[in-house]
Amino acid sequence: MTLTGKHYLAGNWVSSDSHFMSTPAFGPAHQFAVGTPAMADTAARAAEVAFESYGYCSRSLRAVFLNRIADEIDARGDAITEIGCQETGLPEARLIGERGRTVGQLRLFAQHIESGDYLERKQDGALPGRALPRPDLRLMQRPIGPVAVFGASNFPLAFSVAGGDTAAALAAGCPVVVKGHGGHPGTGEIVAQAIAAAVEACELDPGVFSLIQDGGRELGQALVQHPLIRAVGFTGSLAGGRALFDLCAQRPEPIPFFGELGSVNPMFLLPGAVSARVASLAAGWAGALTMGAGQFCTNPGLAIVIDGPEADAFVAAAREALSGVAPQTMLTDGIAQAYRSGAHRLQTSTGVQTLLASDTGLRDAGPWLLETTGQAWLANPSLAEEVFGPLGLVVRVADFEEMLTLARSLQGQLTCTLQLDSSDSERARALLPILERKAGRVLANGFPTGVEVCDSMVHGGPYPASTNFGATSVGTLSIRRFLRPVCYQNIPSDILPADLR
Ligand code: NAP
Repeated sequence: MTLTGKHYLAGNWVSSDSHFMSTPAFGPAHQFAVGTPAMADTAARAAEVAFESYGYCSRSLRAVFLNRIADEIDARGDAITEIGCQETGLPEARLIGERGRTVGQLRLFAQHIESGDYLERKQDGALPGRALPRPDLRLMQRPIGPVAVFGASNFPLAFSVAGGDTAAALAAGCPVVVKGHGGHPGTGEIVAQAIAAAVEACELDPGVFSLIQDGGRELGQALVQHPLIRAVGFTGSLAGGRALFDLCAQRPEPIPFFGELGSVNPMFLLPGAVSARVASLAAGWAGALTMGAGQFCTNPGLAIVIDGPEADAFVAAAREALSGVAPQTMLTDGIAQAYRSGAHRLQTSTGVQTLLASDTGLRDAGPWLLETTGQAWLANPSLAEEVFGPLGLVVRVADFEEMLTLARSLQGQLTCTLQLDSSDSERARALLPILERKAGRVLANGFPTGVEVCDSMVHGGPYPASTNFGATSVGTLSIRRFLRPVCYQNIPSDILPADLR
């Protein structure tokens, strides 16, 4: 498949005056046009024009479009896997699996909108004979308008150009402008070719989708500040997400910014579970921690255990399991550099012991294991910050009371995990009401890294896990981010939207 190195702007493949070279983990580098604020303007204007037709077209046409995008991505599957592996260093099996998830969520959204439940239609019929007469009132969810999406570095398919944010916005009826991630511009371009083919096949207004390749901070800032952009979907760092969130709030007309900013995903090891299955808990944790070089927002980076001989056994088994894990290639040089400096920051923090260190070169990352006490952790808030990569911190709390104190002091998380046995039920009952205030998903006896795409999933949580605790960026509920309720009062039925008649 040929790469043009261009942006896809509302139906046209467009170049720029300046270019950048991709930085693949292996294989040839390619040249790509640099995105500019002027392109954000062109794409946003075209998206607003497209909204006039796409925002009001039938749900069945949108479902056909989503399914067609999935087909076009599958048709380019081999090319996507080949360049995706080169650009990100992720293994082939992972990219094939991620493509399955990406087309699966497009098809799931097609089904979801066809059923119509997401419209949350309600009616309070007219009561003309009431002392204070009531008019006919009907409510329905409507799309909000053009949406900006920032491709995530760590899921080059499932959270990028045609990922969950794009699928949810297009399903809702919102045109999308994607700012591609500089870590995988070629993968992004081929996925954009697939969407372009689907736009053409469905004879949609071409402004319904644009991909602007990476153009640095000015491009992202121009996009979120553009007056025609109505909402933003983002997955990435706390610093980047917070900066863009603040820009959205400072606009003359503020807009919602749906940022998924990561988490340390605490795992609480209750005593019954530790004494019953310490070896499998340690092996399972080591596997979850190092999967994909730890580059998952749901990576369980923090393990909390009550100090004593069983904690010793857990730490020893985790250390042994992690020692056998070879270094893996990270997504970008910058992410590998940030991982190394995060590990060194923790290593040199007061009260932290290093049990396993791994200093590798350039883009590789090996596992780190560190431990501290509950007291030291509670005294130093920076120990609660995410280190993106295969790093685990064990916190040995003095007793269950200190475990509860630690749970209460947590910041917002995407997930919290309980490892429990039947003898731990009372303790788990005490923890659950605390943890459900902290996380979007609470799970028992498993690891949080697999995020199922379905109706019941919540991938979000209180700040700083996300910038909007009422939302999820995975699962069918994620469409809700790009809708708003409208009440239609006494509107004659022949002019009501078809979905409300
Ligand atoms: P990032 O630095 O937050 O960048 C994500 C996107 O936002 C990029 O397109 C970036 O553009 C843009 N951006 C960031 N700051 C911006 C600003 N101030 N103004 C305008 N645009 C801005 O995330 P990343 O590149 O994926 O990885 C860097 C770090 O993010 C990782 O080391 C990790 O700590 C964290 N991360 C976390 C998760 C998670 O789910 N928890 C996922 C991925 C990454 P430019 O590339 O042009 O700067």
